[in-house]
Amino acid sequence: MSRATPRAGPLRLALDTPITELRGVGAQRARDLARADVATVGDLLLRLPFRYEDRSSLRPIATLAAATTCTVAGTIARCGLRPTRRPGFSIFEALLRDDTGLLSVVWFNQRYLRDVFAVGKRVVLYGAVETRGLSGLQMTNPAFEFVDEEAAPDSVHTGRIVPIYERLGTLTPKLQRALVHEALCHVDHGPDPLPADVRARLELPDRHAALHEVHFPAAGAEVAALNGRRSPAQRRLIFEEFFAFQVGVALRRRENDAQRKPFPVVVTDATRDLARRVLPFALTPGQKHALREIVDAMRQPPPMNRLLQGDVGSGKTIVALLAALVALDNGLQVALMAPTGILAEQHARTIGTWLAPTAYGVRLLTAATPAPERRAIHAALRAGEPLLVVGTHALVEDPVAFSRLGFVIVDEQHRFGVLQRATLREKGLQPDVLVMTATPIPRTLAMTVYGDLDVSVIRDRPPGRTPVRTVAKPEERREDVYAFVREQLAAGHQAYVVYPLVEESEKIDVRAATEMADHLATEVFPAHRVGLLHGRMPQDAKDRVMHAFGRGDLQVLVSTTVVEVGVDVPNATVMLVEHAERFGLAQLHQLRGRVGRGTAASSCVLLYQSPLTDEARARLKALVDTDDGFAIAERDLELRGPGDVFGTRQSGMPHLRVGDPVRDRVLMELASQEARAWVDGRPPEDAAVRQFAAAWATRFGLGGVA
Ligand code: ADP
Ligand code: MG
Repeated sequence: MSRATPRAGPLRLALDTPITELRGVGAQRARDLARADVATVGDLLLRLPFRYEDRSSLRPIATLAAATTCTVAGTIARCGLRPTRRPGFSIFEALLRDDTGLLSVVWFNQRYLRDVFAVGKRVVLYGAVETRGLSGLQMTNPAFEFVDEEAAPDSVHTGRIVPIYERLGTLTPKLQRALVHEALCHVDHGPDPLPADVRARLELPDRHAALHEVHFPAAGAEVAALNGRRSPAQRRLIFEEFFAFQVGVALRRRENDAQRKPFPVVVTDATRDLARRVLPFALTPGQKHALREIVDAMRQPPPMNRLLQGDVGSGKTIVALLAALVALDNGLQVALMAPTGILAEQHARTIGTWLAPTAYGVRLLTAATPAPERRAIHAALRAGEPLLVVGTHALVEDPVAFSRLGFVIVDEQHRFGVLQRATLREKGLQPDVLVMTATPIPRTLAMTVYGDLDVSVIRDRPPGRTPVRTVAKPEERREDVYAFVREQLAAGHQAYVVYPLVEESEKIDVRAATEMADHLATEVFPAHRVGLLHGRMPQDAKDRVMHAFGRGDLQVLVSTTVVEVGVDVPNATVMLVEHAERFGLAQLHQLRGRVGRGTAASSCVLLYQSPLTDEARARLKALVDTDDGFAIAERDLELRGPGDVFGTRQSGMPHLRVGDPVRDRVLMELASQEARAWVDGRPPEDAAVRQFAAAWATRFGLGGVA
């Protein structure tokens, strides 16, 4: 391992000192660090070890026993690849020597070790010891780290609880450990960013001590707690991050509450009568409750920011429409954004029917809208006509035409976060915003993702639904599954067959789905009509297929995941998911929600290819076991983590370095309470508040907090 030439850097480092000032960080290493968003000394210190090894007790080889996990140190006496017969399978073996004996070590399928190990190198190994043969012992796939013979009293890398960092390009865990050690020795931490009273009350260690402890835990620290991110030092740093985030959220909320909408909303008896005329059915108690909360918020002077959660099929659309009617009746314009063109089109159709008895019009504005039509819509909007415009999210990215935008509804997507609301505000628009989601987000996470949103929840479902029967079947049972689908079709029902996006290239996926549709049409269901829907089709072709399926002209709809959300065909009773093992849990639950919308019993069949990974098995089991969307959302988060679910950056989900809103949800809740209390007790011009606001904008990159 090469060592960068020591440079005479300043010995006092601040947290915002560029990382390149640190001895040992040249251009290449700085680039590698930048990939992990490490630009300053402070960033480096917040890149916490992902694991800890207790090397405080190095075990002499002669004292090792089978079925233990331990750390040994020694010199490589022999090493090399062992020939194997199985193609693609390799074994790298080494013999480690210390003062007391020899230990054989093997690694499977890590050919590159050939280029890393050499006889005579000193190495620390950490791993499980097993019996080998009659009397021998062997270590299998241990973690390893080379140590320098001549390195001065080596209290950083061995002989202690050692932090292990994720490798970063040219930066080995060991090198990072040395850098962090160097930084910790010379950094001036400045004042603790956590308010002293909060820290004292929660008995949190100070920042300086916490950073030392997370990187170089004191002797006797609990390694299990460290690896579980539960040590006092880790909790302190996680809390600090959450607190900073929640202070920003609380400030934003306070700022919002101080604003006044340009167009106040009132509810008159005339509006109530109109709503009654529009209503096609009686609302469920859950719908009524949500509607009341929404309309109450609309009548308040500050703009509404609200999340409407409700499982698939809980009937969010009518609730949103009735709220929209209130806005329209106040002479305001409404924008409804759907995640796909097909869904926008479907909303426009349903809402058009609902609004028919009123004086208010619905317009569809998507990429497919012809230019003259688009111009006409824009002109009507500029003229201030109270219209409900349905489109995709591009509607709000370019909201130029709206002259009286009073209400924005965002359907079925997580991507409408803080950022888009900030965009609206920058354009001088202060509409009420209602975000609808069928992926019920656990409260703590809603708090992170949406921060300053209020939440309304619909927990019940419209009456007359029979629960969907869910089964998972291996590929070998395909013929039985087809026979079952045939029965349903013969009884006059319809079926979805969903094909996942499996390949890197959409083209290949389209071909696979097309072949599937042909195969089903000609060989499997020759007596029925099969249609195909995929993302690459032109809008009008999609529309034709969707309409045909909606009318019942097609009995089977083969589709890539575009039917995932929102499509409503009550006569469809089968959802057959191909390659179910490749879908996420929330996605599968959404797909299942496409059936069970009428009165007939419906089924969701998850066809999978063996062998299943443990995670895929857990997903399918969760789906078969429950149809409670909230339970599924929780499970999904546990299996995947929040970043994967929301696609961290685009969603407005804050980029957290040390905390994980799912794992550390209790701390998030605590941070939220503490931050609110802290903000409530201080005026906006308070120096600490201003400092936090500025730091927040830089730290979380969301801007917009006054
Ligand atoms: P989601 O919450 O998944 O968006 P939708 O709004 O699409 O659900 O509603 C699902 C179906 O239930 C639609 O066909 C809708 O017309 C119907 N629906 C909604 N509310 C009720 C109700 N209170 N009674 C009967 N049917 C309802
Ligand atoms: Mg919907």
